[in-house]
Amino acid sequence: MTENDILKIFREYSALLEGHFILSSGLHSDRYIQCALVLQYPRVAEQLCVELGPKLGELGARTVAAPALGGVIVAHEVARALGLRALFTERKDGQMTLRRGFHLEQGEPVLVVEDVITTGKSTRETALCVEEAGGKVVGIGALVDRSGGNVKFDVPKAALVTLDVKTWDPDDCPLCKEGKPAVKPGSRPGASKPVQ
Ligand SMILES: [Zn+2]
Repeated sequence: MTENDILKIFREYSALLEGHFILSSGLHSDRYIQCALVLQYPRVAEQLCVELGPKLGELGARTVAAPALGGVIVAHEVARALGLRALFTERKDGQMTLRRGFHLEQGEPVLVVEDVITTGKSTRETALCVEEAGGKVVGIGALVDRSGGNVKFDVPKAALVTLDVKTWDPDDCPLCKEGKPAVKPGSRPGASKPVQ
């Protein structure tokens, strides 16, 4: 599948919206990505991760790890595509931790995957958590890299789609200046409609 094929799937499930949005960070943007809307259909999740997994398949990973909640289904489906196991890290008192009895062997090669890479912060926290537990991060994957490819890691990274999504402080937002009403997507079920 090409990037355009992937984007078509995202648009079809309203997982990629174009317009004027207030993000959870408070910043404004002209695009909004909500991967949960594609991942809610297991066959679509599988289809996407069957594309993503092999891009990271040569790195010799034995396990796939992701930060909860957003990454859990991606880790599960990438692990299924590559015949590996999947586990997740989660925040406890703000700190990314490996809980629930998940265990990594010393030096166990691990892929860290996400739904979306924005700043790379949660990916880095997950990678650190994996390494503290004895694992060795060998690659990073995401369905969408919305940093325009600007977020770098010291291991190989793969994304199905790379987007350069602009964000602005409300005071500097050109869409606000045009007087376009801003919407807060995802604040209530079905509140935002895709732009055709
Ligand atoms: Zn705005």
